[in-house]
Amino acid sequence: MKLAQLLKDGFSSKNFGNSGLDETTSIIQEQFRKFVEDDVAPNAHEWHLKDNLIPMSVIEKMSELGVFGLTIPEEYGGLGMTRFVDCVVTEELARGYIGIGSLGTRGDIAAELLITGGTEEQKNKYLPKIASGEMLPCAVLTEPHSGSDMGSFKTRAVANGEHYTITGNKTWVTHGARSDVMMLLARTNPDEKGYKGLSMFLAEKQRGDDDNMFPDEGISGGEIEVLGYRGMKEYEMAFDGFKVKKENLLGEKEGNGFKQMMETFEAARIQTAARALGVAQSAFETAMQYAIDRLDTNGGSLYDKPRNASKIVSMATEIMAARQLTYYAAREKDKGHRCDLEAGMAKMLAARVAWACADNGVQIHGGNGFALEYPISRILCDSRILNIFEGTAEIQADIVTRRLVSTNPA
Ligand SMILES: Cc1cc2nc3c(=O)[nH]c(=O)nc-3n(C[C@H](O)[C@H](O)[C@H](O)COP(=O)(O)OP(=O)(O)OC[C@H]3O[C@@H](n4cnc5c(N)ncnc54)[C@H](O)[C@@H]3O)c2cc1C
Repeated sequence: MKLAQLLKDGFSSKNFGNSGLDETTSIIQEQFRKFVEDDVAPNAHEWHLKDNLIPMSVIEKMSELGVFGLTIPEEYGGLGMTRFVDCVVTEELARGYIGIGSLGTRGDIAAELLITGGTEEQKNKYLPKIASGEMLPCAVLTEPHSGSDMGSFKTRAVANGEHYTITGNKTWVTHGARSDVMMLLARTNPDEKGYKGLSMFLAEKQRGDDDNMFPDEGISGGEIEVLGYRGMKEYEMAFDGFKVKKENLLGEKEGNGFKQMMETFEAARIQTAARALGVAQSAFETAMQYAIDRLDTNGGSLYDKPRNASKIVSMATEIMAARQLTYYAAREKDKGHRCDLEAGMAKMLAARVAWACADNGVQIHGGNGFALEYPISRILCDSRILNIFEGTAEIQADIVTRRLVSTNPA
């Protein structure tokens, strides 16, 4: 109960234990916390309930704050910050709303792809536009028959003069309509049935909207209705003769698509762990506020019930543990060390913690936790996705197992 009291004492100042941030990072965190408190948290539940796209005015504000160029090197128009700072910012954004914490994810992956696999011309052309938010990317990878097994992808890219012609079906494209460039994985070599036949394209498209989702010739599709993780919307997309310029083949070399994608996994999984931390933290704070505010007939609060308080204490403790592991993975990435093991562990743990916190949060709300009206119901839905995308929990577990039993773990 001592820990419960300490958490309660720190509630108004959001002091739930020292995460070990330096002064500069604390100032950056504070700046994003203010944005979230003013522009995100008051609107998130309405965006979710109405299943609206996040307003462009909010995205523009995020562009001004530098969200989309946070880790992009300064010479390409970004802020050149570390993965560690990106974690802190991402957690704050996702604490307000998972959709806000996830808006930068696609740009982040596109930037990693370009930095590790793009030609200098491609970097100069795309990175500044991604950094400024002028160009919103989407990831067009998953196919209807599989997301985990990329080697089985069937969508074809056939070289044809100055173009590649794309034919095939993709699904689960987050922000697919309102985006300007696709990270599109397609098979350029049909004789190579596995990973080696795949190539990555940065394929430009026109921005669509709810009335006309896919204005380009050769693309059609529709929306997939979802439980949570709204705000950008999900789409299935069919390509039928869609043309991509040859110069938009990443690195201008065929057959490297899977390898290029693999090189983004560490950063993307650390970023997703940070999104999970934000969702977990919002579940924790929402539950705690409810427990403090809801009074019983004797004038006590739900927070005074030891079983409620102990749930809150568990949430705070698990979040701190997942946060420190995520920070560690980020710092390793910043040092240029291999960190697929740590990134996989962080993503797996943080996603589980988010789900456990949301579940505990609903329990603390009692029946009200099951009512759509209460934000904790949204947080429960939002938390569920974190174990599915960016590599399912099972795929992370496989990666961690393989690395643990590896004879050469360096
Ligand atoms: C809300 C949402 C947003 C998404 N956004 C995007 C996006 O923007 N772009 C994109 O390309 N994709 C996106 N995805 C797709 C996501 O990446 C896939 O859903 C995910 O990779 C899993 O693929 P799948 O759904 O085909 O499941 P499957 O791969 O069919 O897996 C089904 C189950 O089997 C398990 N499994 C499969 N293979 C193995 C294995 N080898 N070992 C152990 N277990 C295994 C999985 O862990 C899972 O539990 C999104 C999905 C959702 C739900």
